[in-house]
Amino acid sequence: MLSRFKICDAHVHLGRSGPWQPYSKPTIFVEELINLFDQFNVERAIVFPNPNVGDKYPETNDYIAQCVNKYPDRLVGFGRVDPRRGKDAIDEVIRFKEKLALTGLKLHPMVECFRPDHLFFDKFFAKMTELRVPLLIHTGNGFSSPGLILKVAKKYPDLTIIFGHLREGCINALKQSENIYVETSGTLPEFIEISVDIDEDWVLFGSDVPYYRYPVQIAIVDAANISQKAKRKVYCENFQRLFTAT
Ligand SMILES: [Zn+2]
Repeated sequence: MLSRFKICDAHVHLGRSGPWQPYSKPTIFVEELINLFDQFNVERAIVFPNPNVGDKYPETNDYIAQCVNKYPDRLVGFGRVDPRRGKDAIDEVIRFKEKLALTGLKLHPMVECFRPDHLFFDKFFAKMTELRVPLLIHTGNGFSSPGLILKVAKKYPDLTIIFGHLREGCINALKQSENIYVETSGTLPEFIEISVDIDEDWVLFGSDVPYYRYPVQIAIVDAANISQKAKRKVYCENFQRLFTAT
């Protein structure tokens, strides 16, 4: 199934997986991913490591950089770190931005087990703002609840934050802040319609491949009752605007 729209995807995992989700096969390497992109009309995507354990993030960030070097027109590389590591986490972001030329950072407060609005992470988010590193943050339950991430967005208005998975709570965040994008993986068409109504320039298509599948994620956006113009923005144009400089 080839989408009628050219697609830019704001949420794609790449590389070897940690020991999660035995029912799915989240390990995917770059050639297989590019084949998938060609199959589904995906022109560009944000790619970042699978969730991992211990101190494996630096080596998985290296792999993302190798892939971006191989396919610079198709991939926008985001690294991962465990922000609980304080200065080490900041140093790793500096390394992957300056030495590996990755663009942004993916955070998953549940997997990395940190409460984003805790004072301990002030220094971290202040540094991300200073480095102009855009963030993609998983939203969901507990530490990943959109309300906690909204607090960070409000405290650091110059930090660009993409709220992953466009949950109901993300709509409230989108209304309240100027620096928030939402990304559609795993959402409902109704939430896309409401978000586009709030501001169609801040909604990005996301798939969460390989955890979710393109036919389903594309069908969700296709089912949203929004204008063709808004659909083009969601599928690709908003992403292109956000990453023109990269
Ligand atoms: Zn994901």
